[in-house]
Amino acid sequence: MKMLTQIERLAERTKGFLEAEEGRRLYRLAREASRLGPCLEIGSYCGKSTLYMASGCKENDGILFSIDHHRGSEEQQPGEPYFDPDLFNPQTKEVDTFGHFRKTLRMGHLEEYVVPVVCTSFLAARAWSTPLGMVFIDGGHSLDMVRQDFQIWSQHVLPRGYLVFHDIYPDPADGGQAPYLVYQEALASGFFKIHPMTLSLGVLERNQCR
Ligand code: MG
Repeated sequence: MKMLTQIERLAERTKGFLEAEEGRRLYRLAREASRLGPCLEIGSYCGKSTLYMASGCKENDGILFSIDHHRGSEEQQPGEPYFDPDLFNPQTKEVDTFGHFRKTLRMGHLEEYVVPVVCTSFLAARAWSTPLGMVFIDGGHSLDMVRQDFQIWSQHVLPRGYLVFHDIYPDPADGGQAPYLVYQEALASGFFKIHPMTLSLGVLERNQCR
C-alpha cells in the first residue's frame, strides 16, 4: 500500500476532475483487471486517473493504454467554463495537456507501464483488435461521444473484465446526463452486470460467454 500512498500524494497535486476515493477504486479495478489483459482509458488529461490505473497495472507488470488528443475538451477552450490558462500554449494558441501528462507519468515512475495514444479515441479504435481487461470511459462528455466510445470500445472488453464510466449522475442537478444515459444503455444491452458505484464512478463487469 506504500506505493498507493505516494501515488495519492502525487495525484493531489495533479490537475484533474477525479476524487481520491474514485482514484483508489480505479487502482483496485486495474489491479484486478490487468491480470486478464491490458487496460485502457479514454481521457488522460494531465494524468490523474492514469496514476491510479497504471499503478494497479504495475502490480501485475501489466500495461495501460491512455488515449487523449491532449487539446482539451470543448468546455476547456479559452472563454469556456473549464479553461485553465496554465494548460494553454501561447505559441501555438492551443490548449496542450500532453506535457503535463508526461511529467505526471515521469514523477509517478510509470513510464514503463503506460502507452500514451495521442489522438481521438475514434482514430485509435479504427485498427484496434487487442482484448482488454478494463476500459475506462472519461473522454468527450456529449451524448454522441460517450455513446460512440461505448459502442466502439465495449466490444473489446474481455469476459469478467470491467467497463467503467466517470461522471455518472442519476440526479440531473448533480451533473450532465450523457454518461448516465449510456451507462444505462450498457446495462440494458445484457452484456454487463452492475457493481456498486464509487461517487460518480459507474462500474460494470462483462458477463461470461455462454
Ligand atoms: Mg470525468
